[in-house]
Amino acid sequence: MFKKERLKLTLQYLIIIMSVSVLFSCLVYHLSVQEVARGMRLQIMRSLRENDLPPERFFASPALPPNFHLKTFEEAKERIATELILINLGILMISGAAGYFLAGKTLFPIAQMLEEQKRFVADASHELRTPLTSIKTETEVALRDEELNVKEAKKILKSNLEEVDKLKSLTDYFLTLSKYQSSIKAGFKFEKVALREAVETAAARLTKPAGKKKIKIKKSLAEVFALANKTSIVELVSILLDNAIKYSPSGKNVILQLTKHGNHAQITVQDFGMGISQEDIPLIFNRFYRASPARTKIEADSYGLGLSIAKSIIELHHGKVSVKSAIGQGSTFSVLLPA
Ligand code: ADP
Repeated sequence: MFKKERLKLTLQYLIIIMSVSVLFSCLVYHLSVQEVARGMRLQIMRSLRENDLPPERFFASPALPPNFHLKTFEEAKERIATELILINLGILMISGAAGYFLAGKTLFPIAQMLEEQKRFVADASHELRTPLTSIKTETEVALRDEELNVKEAKKILKSNLEEVDKLKSLTDYFLTLSKYQSSIKAGFKFEKVALREAVETAAARLTKPAGKKKIKIKKSLAEVFALANKTSIVELVSILLDNAIKYSPSGKNVILQLTKHGNHAQITVQDFGMGISQEDIPLIFNRFYRASPARTKIEADSYGLGLSIAKSIIELHHGKVSVKSAIGQGSTFSVLLPA
């Protein structure tokens, strides 16, 4: 992957390095030749003076063979040129290898990002396909059924509407995910947030689904302030609470805590539901990951996206998350945010 681009980038690095090197070598050659010529001139003049000869007698001097200065000069020039060529060849080889290595380092994060995007498009298409296929099949079957009555038609419409709702919540997830995972996070306004208020808002949002399962959200919230994006914090706590309720049996309460630890605020969501296996814990924050699909597929709105959004929000706030869980006993999600 990216082999062609890597070679192209290496070539571009090489062109720049070699242009500078060749230019520099030409300059060195020119200066060296001038210096050699000057040195030789001085040497010749000294030799003439030592032999007590006038300068015009130089070529006839028995002390110096004919063309001595010219031959030596040409040899020196040749030697300088050869050495410079060898040096340039060395630079070409070293910078070729270094350029190839650097090009790889430059392209690696881009390659990784593209690979991740490709995977996301494939996974997202797969998720969208399931409800779409269901709508298509049910509609086709209904259209073929000549004896379909209004009651049956309404049943099919109701079922299709449920699938449309799934598609809607999926696309909502995608939009939220892209909002948090885009590399430009400048759009988020950070301000002094009363975390207690934000956590209360999230809890209020989840009261209805909790009530449906006879679950009470037991709160213990301290007054903590943090430099944060309030909407994101509400979203984060909502995700954790939603999961706690979703993966708990009826009647099992959920504990929601907000405490201050030194320079940090800690938000804890504890449930006494089905729990997560130790092998699954490191994977649940990955996009589209559902621990034990057979178990979670029972849930209509389980897409494996909530926790990856939660993770992005925590990263946005330079926070940390830890999970403690045991199958059949429940899970505790603790988020640490700089307060
Ligand atoms: P979703 O809940 O939509 O499937 P998430 O990304 O929120 O997606 O969660 C990923 C998976 O982690 C879930 O499918 C579930 O298996 C597991 N999980 C998350 N929270 C809990 C919890 N509180 N109790 C048990 N399992 C959980």
